[in-house]
Amino acid sequence: MVFLLTLSPSETVPKPCTIEYMVFKNLTVGLRPGIATLVLFSVSAFGFAAQPAVARQPHTGMLTAEQREAQAQNFVKEKLQFWQKRLNLEKWKVSVELVRNTSLKPKTLGNIHWDASTMQAAIDVQSSYDYKLPLQAMLDDMEFTVVHELVHLQLSSLPRSEASRSAEEHAVNEITQALLNLARR
Ligand SMILES: [Zn+2]
Repeated sequence: MVFLLTLSPSETVPKPCTIEYMVFKNLTVGLRPGIATLVLFSVSAFGFAAQPAVARQPHTGMLTAEQREAQAQNFVKEKLQFWQKRLNLEKWKVSVELVRNTSLKPKTLGNIHWDASTMQAAIDVQSSYDYKLPLQAMLDDMEFTVVHELVHLQLSSLPRSEASRSAEEHAVNEITQALLNLARR
């Protein structure tokens, strides 16, 4: 899937959207604290504590920064395909790139730009170089970003205003987490 990303992050394209940090960047482990707690709780409550991290990803070993980035790149592409299909967004041509946080808005982890007339969309996800989380936690976070942005795309035909933005963010986060919880059971 080749798609030339010609938009710069500062450009105002139709209905741009950004996913926002829930907490400050220096509290890396506390990212999306409510969600993390919920997941941990449900996992331990049903006795699957050891299952998710081991089953989903190969052993992390001693990856170099470049290997970690390459693995993250493959991972987000794979997840994009998976979730695009699940969300029935296959009519769209969607690309995903890892980008340094200098090209993201402050305190955001990703964004999506789309053009409904051409049915093309481009997702940016924060690069592994700017993550301080362990590999699996980072990949889980990246998947959250991909799904979050795709849910926005699914809602892109709805009317949107400045006033509806934060309500949309909240709803998108809830839907994203519900989808991921179902997929990770
Ligand atoms: Zn968002």
